[in-house]
Amino acid sequence: MTNTFKANVVHNNALRLRILPFIAFLITLLVGLVIVNNYHSLWEKEQSMLMSELVGSQASTIQRHLSRSFSSTYILKSLIEIDNGDVKNFNSYAKNIFNSIGSITNLQLAPNGIVEHIYPLAGHEKAIGHNILKDDKRRDEAALAITNRELTLAGPFQLVQGGTAVIGRNPIFLKNAAGEEYFWGFASVLTYLDDLLSATDLNTLKSKGYQYQLSNTTNETENIFAQSHENMGAAETIVKKTIEVPNGKWLLCMGREPQPWHHIALGLQILLVVCLSVLVTYITYALLRRPIRLQQLVDQKTDALHKLAFYDPLTKLCNRRLFNDLLTRMIATTERDGKRMALLYLDLDDFKRINDSLGHESGDQLLKIIGERLSSVVRKSDIVARIGGDEFCALLPNIQTGVNAAHVAEKILEAIEKPVKLGTHSVRVTPSIGITLAPDDGTDSIQLLKNADLAMYSAKENNRNNYQFFEHKLNTNTLERLILERELSQAVEKNEFVLHFQPQVCLLTQQTKGIEALVRWQHPSKGLLPPGDFIQFAEDSRLIIPIGTWVLEQACKQLKQLDQPNLIVSVNLSPRQFSDPNLLTTIKAALTNAGIEGHQLELEITETALMKNMANAIQILKQIKALGILIAIDDFGTGYSSLSQLKNLPADTLKIDREFIKDITEREDNKVITEVIIGMGHKLGLTVIAEGIETEEQLKIITQMKCDMAQGYFFSKPINLEALNNYLSEKQKKPCLS
Ligand code: C2E
Ligand code: MG
Ligand code: MG
Repeated sequence: MTNTFKANVVHNNALRLRILPFIAFLITLLVGLVIVNNYHSLWEKEQSMLMSELVGSQASTIQRHLSRSFSSTYILKSLIEIDNGDVKNFNSYAKNIFNSIGSITNLQLAPNGIVEHIYPLAGHEKAIGHNILKDDKRRDEAALAITNRELTLAGPFQLVQGGTAVIGRNPIFLKNAAGEEYFWGFASVLTYLDDLLSATDLNTLKSKGYQYQLSNTTNETENIFAQSHENMGAAETIVKKTIEVPNGKWLLCMGREPQPWHHIALGLQILLVVCLSVLVTYITYALLRRPIRLQQLVDQKTDALHKLAFYDPLTKLCNRRLFNDLLTRMIATTERDGKRMALLYLDLDDFKRINDSLGHESGDQLLKIIGERLSSVVRKSDIVARIGGDEFCALLPNIQTGVNAAHVAEKILEAIEKPVKLGTHSVRVTPSIGITLAPDDGTDSIQLLKNADLAMYSAKENNRNNYQFFEHKLNTNTLERLILERELSQAVEKNEFVLHFQPQVCLLTQQTKGIEALVRWQHPSKGLLPPGDFIQFAEDSRLIIPIGTWVLEQACKQLKQLDQPNLIVSVNLSPRQFSDPNLLTTIKAALTNAGIEGHQLELEITETALMKNMANAIQILKQIKALGILIAIDDFGTGYSSLSQLKNLPADTLKIDREFIKDITEREDNKVITEVIIGMGHKLGLTVIAEGIETEEQLKIITQMKCDMAQGYFFSKPINLEALNNYLSEKQKKPCLS
């Protein structure tokens, strides 16, 4: 991921984190308010429907009540018409009507418009004699009733006898003797307004918080004649209903007293919506933030992994992997641009010594400082990498000539050789630097690295602490030798060696008396290598010391595993091992660690090794012998030593070299030499072993020559411990006792 892309992602995430919660807030708020508003409208609608029903029911109660009371006038009117204006039965008629219809205050008869008869009369006496047609306030309705021959309603108004009431007047028309119709008078019914209202639920509703107002309109002015409160303006949900009355209309208005709890509930609902919106905003923010945080975590881990994969954790420099990648790219760019680049391959001289003497922590500290010094002397555009334990590389792009690279190499030498303080110690390390140029010395990374490595080795061989350019004369053999030497030193650390054993057979008893330990190198790519491929290198490079120590220890340990107390293991000692001052200590440690006795071990020293310094050799052999260990002279006959010199050696065994045995059947001279060696050996009290017995014929000849023992493919090739164990179980139940 590029930095710009990363920055864009971070910016977009931040924007999303700000905008989306805000949008969520707005949407929730909007939806919430719409819901609250709908709920509120629904509630108001319901209230107004309830109110309409209520007003309707109250209005119809009033109307029903009025028409019931008016119906009494029709009955009275009919009876008077039947009696042809005779009023003597009025009281009995009125009583019957009054009792059967109910909800009326009184019934009246007013012949010629003058009230003369009232039932019941008590309390209404004052009305007797009242001339309706002459009363200004009553005259209009009365005249209208006569004109229209219909019942008219008068009032509500104040009665002369007190109280507010409505009167229904029904005009009565009779016929005279001539058959002409004339106005007789009125049959009226009086109903107190209070009685009318008490027939409704208006007063009960008033106590429950409802308000009402009853009015009619006369001469276009509204006349309120009954009301629950002075002013209905404050009421809520006001609903009106018209009540049809004879010669006019009444209006019933009803409403509810203001209900503060409803407003509080509304306020609370809005508050709830706001709170919910805030909550949704927070949840949206948290939900959005989570994957972003996760992404950040993944990015961090990826970065860390990237660093681990491509950078050296100790020095923070590029590791081998990244370096190879960068090298390949730089070679391609250099080639494309027609320029030149340099690769500096640097190895610290004797770093192992510092690591071993001061400890790994100090070693690490030193590598860190070297890394820093290297980075400080090159340019920013150059690349420095740690590609192995104490191996560093520097890539210098765009150099003109090798002189530029040499200049950098000099600066590196100067910077590194300055003393380094490690705890209380002040140490000084030097590097050996190999330089290759591209495209001059190679155009691919493997080739360049190989050549730089080669040049670095040539710097090492050139007294170290210097730099060398790659030269084509560093031929393939040198290269292979150098590579082998390097691999061999790693093989010691990686424990890539194995031991094979070859039986040594007693010719008298045909039993295996000893086994020779022969080392092999399990090479990671080349497979199992015989000692001929590497022992000489090991000898030359001093690596034979650790390899030999390993062989000695393993040979003793594996003999112990065989659990054959009379079997002797022979181990080859190289000339350099033989002159190692620690040899005796190493041998003793090997015996002790394996838990075997000195007489179970035989050490083979080549004739040539002995001849180099006979006096010293005798000294060492004596010390070895003092431990009970047996001594064999290996490859005898090849070193041109005089047989007479043998008598001074504290040896036990003489091994006749394979060279004499090889063509013993054909060459008479070899036959004679072998016979002499055997005879000589016997004279000196040595056990003689013939090496390289491959055929029965060879075996026959050396047996006839009284050779003591034989070793060769005829019996067995060198084999691993498991195979040897099988061999021993099959071929020999008991080892030969000398
Ligand atoms: P060597 O000590 O003389 O060992 C005998 C060599 O002759 C072995 O070769 C063995 O495989 C080979 N050989 C035995 N019988 C026959 C046979 O019948 N025919 C043929 N053609 N060869 C036979 P190898 O294992 O390759 O070892 C070669 C030499 O390497 C050894 O010669 C010894 O000098 C050296 N070597 C082996 N192991 C070690 C070791 O651990 N330390 C040292 N310093 N040198 C070792
Ligand atoms: Mg040997
Ligand atoms: Mg030999």
